[in-house]
Amino acid sequence: MKSHARIVIVGGGIMGVGLLYHLAEEGCSDVMLIEKGELTSGSTWHAAGQCPSLVGNYNMAKIHHHGNTLYPKLEELTGQYVSWHASGGIRLARTREDLDWFEFMRGIASNVGFRMQIIGPDEIRKIHPFVNTDGVLAGAWTLDDGHADPSGLTNAMARGAKNMGATIVRHTRVTDIKALPSGEWEVSTEKGTVIAEMVVNAAGCFARRVAQMVGADLPICNMEHHYVVTGPVAEFMDRDEEVPVIRDPHASSYIRQEQKSAVVGIYEHVGMTEAWAPRGFPNWDSDSELFPDDLERLMPWLGRAMERVPVLEDAGIKRVINGAISHSADGPPMLGPVAGLKNYWMCCGSSFGIAQGAGCGKYLAQWMLYGDSEINMTGYDPRRFGGYAGDEYMKARGFQDYRLTYVTPLPGEEFPAGRPSRTSPLYDKLRRQGCVHTETFGWERPKWFSLDGRIEEFSYRHNNVFEVVRDECLAVRERVGLLDLSGFSKYDISGPDAGAYLDRICANRMPSRSGGIVLTHILSEQGRIKGEITVTRLADDRYYALSAAAAETRDLDHLVQGKLGSEVVDIVNVTDDRGVLVLAGPRSREVLAQLTDSSLDNDAFPWLTGQEITVAGIPLRALRVNYVGELGWELHPQMQDMEVLYDALWRAGEQYRMVNFGLYAVNSLRIEKAYRGWGAELTNEVTLLESDMQRFIKFDKEEFIGRQATLRQKDEGLTTKLVYFEIDSGDSDVRGSEPVYDGDSVIGVTTSGGYGHHVQKGLGFAYVEPQYAEDGISFEVDLLGERCTGTVLNEPAHDPHNLCLKA
Ligand SMILES: Cc1cc2nc3c(=O)[nH]c(=O)nc-3n(C[C@H](O)[C@H](O)[C@H](O)COP(=O)(O)OP(=O)(O)OC[C@H]3O[C@@H](n4cnc5c(N)ncnc54)[C@H](O)[C@@H]3O)c2cc1C
Repeated sequence: MKSHARIVIVGGGIMGVGLLYHLAEEGCSDVMLIEKGELTSGSTWHAAGQCPSLVGNYNMAKIHHHGNTLYPKLEELTGQYVSWHASGGIRLARTREDLDWFEFMRGIASNVGFRMQIIGPDEIRKIHPFVNTDGVLAGAWTLDDGHADPSGLTNAMARGAKNMGATIVRHTRVTDIKALPSGEWEVSTEKGTVIAEMVVNAAGCFARRVAQMVGADLPICNMEHHYVVTGPVAEFMDRDEEVPVIRDPHASSYIRQEQKSAVVGIYEHVGMTEAWAPRGFPNWDSDSELFPDDLERLMPWLGRAMERVPVLEDAGIKRVINGAISHSADGPPMLGPVAGLKNYWMCCGSSFGIAQGAGCGKYLAQWMLYGDSEINMTGYDPRRFGGYAGDEYMKARGFQDYRLTYVTPLPGEEFPAGRPSRTSPLYDKLRRQGCVHTETFGWERPKWFSLDGRIEEFSYRHNNVFEVVRDECLAVRERVGLLDLSGFSKYDISGPDAGAYLDRICANRMPSRSGGIVLTHILSEQGRIKGEITVTRLADDRYYALSAAAAETRDLDHLVQGKLGSEVVDIVNVTDDRGVLVLAGPRSREVLAQLTDSSLDNDAFPWLTGQEITVAGIPLRALRVNYVGELGWELHPQMQDMEVLYDALWRAGEQYRMVNFGLYAVNSLRIEKAYRGWGAELTNEVTLLESDMQRFIKFDKEEFIGRQATLRQKDEGLTTKLVYFEIDSGDSDVRGSEPVYDGDSVIGVTTSGGYGHHVQKGLGFAYVEPQYAEDGISFEVDLLGERCTGTVLNEPAHDPHNLCLKA
């Protein structure tokens, strides 16, 4: 065994081998994959081999599409048989919401590049004559997907990788991984030691054990999953052509032809108890293992599957496969770095590893080798979780994710597992006032307030909370509103080098005076956006940084890992220590003035400044900024003072008919101000120039990370650019991922949007070809199958000159 490799991958399932192949394809052949058994001997060998195109997420659809493009060619590329069957698939719709989701998906399909048609019951039966279409409204027919032999795919990619110079070591267990003072990793195995620059954990259901070797953990939950193979189906015998895979949400299952038999895979909703599901950490000697089957548990779902394809009823069950599968706490795999560790990567936690192995490998390889991936990796980055995601949370969420496999995702739908996890002291008080919370990074955050007890009817279209949100928005624009945003990520950054350090890692310049506030971005060396933070200079050597709730681990990691050994800077995560109340609206000054002796007028407390003041007897940090575009203050007291502060503000606001508002309203208010969102408009895919944020770059600073690349791009020009647009949408809004058209050509993709209740317009953001980024240019956006005209705006729909903010 070689003693050195640039990259060591632990685990030879389809995820590890998919990565190996793509690293090699990118020209990095100094990679060694180490597998304790045979390749595929974890979860991969027994998988059903399904590779669907239809996934409800734009970036994940790209991951699947890459596999569905590569797998049919693998045999020719490598000489290894993969048994690719281009069967296509049909997912059935039974409700109007299913249909809207199909329309949304069809938009994604146009953008990603796979073929998809929405077909009626008659056509479904033409394509698959054995389907019972009772209760079926339509089908989403995807024509470019299929299924393959998982071992064949893995071995083909392994052969391809070896042909390109990569190394595979089998029957060798990695027993330990240690960081060396040199910054390299020492990977100990049963057969010797390898020194590597980077290590990747691709250990499937063993990933938590391998993570523990470096003191890390990850919220993935191992459980069992079954499929059954029927005996020969007489009706299949007479056909030359294979029928497409049927995916039936009612049966929570997939049903596909396997030669002359059928395979039925079940995601049962019942019997999810600890007795069977979590196997915790498997034993190292678990190898090519299957578990005893539990047909009783599957029966209700299997029954529905048989009703859907009745010709299976007489075929009998020939074989049952019950194998190990891992589900992450929120569904998608873990792809990316581990917080606090340099060059330790995750490539695991996939519950659709056969479909995703190639795509995950491709985009993770880009990230590892070039610092960024060409798709938005926010949703896969392992740093999307934090310490709150402990064992109980992980288990509850992993089970939930399993049960949701075939449930149509509905915008705004909330699921209960693992909640509440992190709450502010106002949680119960706000609930009593009708607050409906949503969860981000474990935090329960107000979404909207049900003042009359109504329950949201989830839909892709305007629903029964539309007018409630409108009232919240108008109250903020016309009077004053209060919002608990304690989930904001907060960091105290101090020390003699704090200012210089922040100037070095951020594209904007730090405020020159104490009390100044700037919005700034942390970029990669390639100039792409890693993080967005709002920094307040509290004193010459003290700064207070805020970032998105979802970015708590990630931005802390950027801040900590961005620090040079020579810089004397202290970075403390104070997210749990301080709460945040957003007081916003034209009457906010009058409300606040009743509770503080500090002057709040524009001379004493201008926009974009912060001060430590006392409100209702509570010392706090008050920042004159907000994300809703109104006169207002963010108040950051110690967490334990939140309730007293809230009560005092509420009393002071009564005469102005102050309201509580939530994040639905925030989305409407921020889109009216053209405020971009981290993770949507601002992602690892794009630069500040592309996101039209050049005013936040200070090129005259001698150096900041990403400066050279940004300058280069400025010279070379852009290939995509963010535009802000209004749209004549009807009863649905832009949500992000919709295709943008000029005639029949797709010219871009939306990133987010919403309805501006104050300006009474649909609004959105999209990345388009730069020639379309001109004020007044029109294009079309596909909203749930309807072409709606979007017109580029060169200024915010509300208060373009910030007069409200500066009032
Ligand atoms: C019944 C069933 C049907 C399925 N059907 C499908 C399907 O149709 N389509 C689909 O996309 N997905 C399907 N899946 C899911 C799919 O099997 C998994 O998502 C996928 O196999 C995960 O691949 P992996 O590489 O992450 O893990 P694994 O295949 O488990 O690979 C991890 C490897 O790491 C090795 N390893 C662990 N620790 C060490 C160590 N310390 N040293 C060296 N090696 C180590 C293990 O031996 C193992 O080979 C199915 C799962 C089940 C249970």
